[in-house]
Amino acid sequence: MATAVKLNTGAQMPIVGLGTWKLWCTFHPKSLVRQACEKTLSDLQLDYLDLYLVHWPMGFQPGTELLPLDSNGETISDGSSFVETWEAMEELVDAGLVKAIGISNFNKEQIEAILNKPGLKYKPANNQVECHPYLTQEKLINYCHSQGISVTAYSPLGSPDRPWAKPEDPSLLEDPNIKAIADKHKKTSAQVLIRYQVQRNVIVIPKSITPQRIQENFQVFDFELNEDEMKIISGFNRNWRACPMQWGIKHKDYPFNAEF
Ligand code: NDP
Repeated sequence: MATAVKLNTGAQMPIVGLGTWKLWCTFHPKSLVRQACEKTLSDLQLDYLDLYLVHWPMGFQPGTELLPLDSNGETISDGSSFVETWEAMEELVDAGLVKAIGISNFNKEQIEAILNKPGLKYKPANNQVECHPYLTQEKLINYCHSQGISVTAYSPLGSPDRPWAKPEDPSLLEDPNIKAIADKHKKTSAQVLIRYQVQRNVIVIPKSITPQRIQENFQVFDFELNEDEMKIISGFNRNWRACPMQWGIKHKDYPFNAEF
């Protein structure tokens, strides 16, 4: 079930596995994990995924609704345990459907619950979390790195196009302090925000549908932020989240009530 990717040269290269994908919250029960992964593989026409992440520690009621809400607008839990979901993820590795497994939006205590699971077969390779200068995640990054878990920064530019943005929310791309550092290096604010993560050994996934910006976002390897600049940028932290997943705040496994 290989698919093919067209190269710039015009040549076709067959691919059998590709990229990072996530298990959504309505597929947490053990019986649904493999089904969800197989559906993704079939949709993508791939034989395996390179990296498959548990999107959130919270399990939601299975069904056609991706965000099942009760009459109070709060997510409906499926009562599952993310530790058991992890066991089902491990089985995907053994079945050859995925090369590596990881987590997303897990806090330290939740990571510990997985690492301390009796009979743990594979520890998470990666934790994908929101991270940028308004949410520097210093402690969580240090903890993950100390456990050999790589960290990926999502919404590294502050996710300006998120549908739930409020007019009073801060804007990283328009922050004059970031802009001042960018000007010094003859770079854009976006490039400084991306470079900041690269220098902290954090994998960074800015999203753009604009070809010129995609190119711009790659041009971050021809300059360096000095130690003072890195410290100044980290000093902008205000524990602000672009993606607080506010509908899940009462869920037993909501990750953002903990300090980190
Ligand atoms: P980003 O911080 O990457 O911001 C994306 C926005 O920034 C888009 O509006 C884009 O515009 C704009 N942008 C991109 N590059 C530039 C640039 N150089 N100058 C100015 N504006 C720019 O936020 P996302 O929330 O999209 O996060 C990035 C990725 O993180 C997503 O693709 C997703 O895969 C992942 N993610 C993971 C989550 C999780 O729970 N694990 C949650 C949220 C995101 P345009 O596209 O119009 O060019």
